[in-house]
Amino acid sequence: PAPMVDEKEPQAVALGYVHDAKRVDKAKFPKYAPPQRCAICQFYQGAATLPTAPCTLFAGKRVAGPGWCSAYVPKA
Ligand code: SF4
Repeated sequence: PAPMVDEKEPQAVALGYVHDAKRVDKAKFPKYAPPQRCAICQFYQGAATLPTAPCTLFAGKRVAGPGWCSAYVPKA
């Protein structure tokens, strides 16, 4: 499987990506609100029940279902 996104890689830092939405920096990203998370984001390339899946925004990498970034868009 594709490697996980590293929270410290530049794109992850730029988007505020974290593996666990509980750790979102709410001061920096006030738009975050539960239950937002990767698993129910439009860019999550897998079933919401999968613990990890590729994300369209992070080419060749996987993100965590419970994760979050500021590009979050709810699945239609
Ligand atoms: Fe997670 Fe969506 Fe951000 Fe990708 S775009 S890291 S699936 S919140």
